Amino acid sequence: MSLLELKQIRKSYRRGGLFGMRERFEVLKDVDLSLEPGCCLGLLGRSGSGKSTLGRIALGLERPDSGEVLFNGRPVKSLPEQDYREYRKNIQVVFQNSFGSVNPRWTAGRIIAEPIRNFEQLSPTSMREKVVHLLERVGLRPEAADKLPHQFSGGELQRVCIARAISLSPSLIVLDEAVSSLDMLIQAKVMELLTDLQRETGTAYLFISHDIRVLLRMADRLVVLDEGRIVGQMDRMDETGSITHPAFTNLLEAILPPLPAMLA
Ligand code: ADP
Ligand code: MG
Repeated sequence: MSLLELKQIRKSYRRGGLFGMRERFEVLKDVDLSLEPGCCLGLLGRSGSGKSTLGRIALGLERPDSGEVLFNGRPVKSLPEQDYREYRKNIQVVFQNSFGSVNPRWTAGRIIAEPIRNFEQLSPTSMREKVVHLLERVGLRPEAADKLPHQFSGGELQRVCIARAISLSPSLIVLDEAVSSLDMLIQAKVMELLTDLQRETGTAYLFISHDIRVLLRMADRLVVLDEGRIVGQMDRMDETGSITHPAFTNLLEAILPPLPAMLA
C-alpha cells in the first residue's frame, strides 16, 4: 500500500483583485501522485509549476479544491482526530530558506525540541539527551544546541532543520528545494547526509527541486510537473524512462542543463 497518495488534485488561487476583477488561476490540474514507504520521489519542475503547492497539500497545510489525499490508504480529510495527529506527526518538512523557517530568537536546541514537545512528554534531561543525539545525527556538535540561528552558516542551519524534521521519526519528509540555496560543496554534503539518514531510518522523501542534477542523485523515481500538470515520469530502474506526454522532452531541454547520458 502507498504511504501517501494524491488523487486527482486540483487547486486554484484567486489572482488580481483590482476593481473586483479577481479571476481564479489554476495551479494544479488533476495531479495524481503516490509515494511508497522508504522511497525518494523526485518532483521536478520550473519555478511556478506548482511544486510547493503540491508539497503543502501533501503536508496537510492546504486543502485541495477537489481530489483526495490518502495516508496509508485512508482519506486524510475524514481521519478521526487521533489518526489525523498521527498523520501530521508522520509527515515533516524541510524548506529552502532555513533562516525563514525558524524562530530567530530560539536556540537550535529549542528549535529541534519543539515538535517533540508537541507530541511527547519528556523530562528536561531526556529532552537534552535527545536533542544532542539528533544534533550528532546531522553532523553537528552538542554545543550547537545553545546557538542562535544567526550564529550558523546556511548549511549548518539546514542541518538543524533536518534534525527538527527527523525528531519524531516521520515516515515521510517533504524536502522543498531543501538544498537549492546551498553552495555546491555544502549541497553535496547535505545530500550525503539525507541519503545516510534515509538508509538508516527508512523514511520516504518527497524531494522537490528545479534542479535535475540534484534529483538524479537523490530520487528513485522522478515526476515532472509543468504548469500544474504531470508531464513525465521516470523510474531509476527503467533507464529508458516512460514519457507520458510529448511536452516532456521539450520541457527537459528548456529547464535543464545539458542532459546526462542516461536521459539523452
Ligand atoms: P513552485 O514551487 O513550482 O515554484 P508554487 O506552487 O509555489 O510553484 O506556485 C505555483 C503558482 O501558484 C505560482 O504562479 C504562484 O504565484 C501561485 N501561488 C502559490 N501560492 C499562492 C497563494 N497562496 N496565493 C496565490 N497564488 C499562489
Ligand atoms: Mg517552490
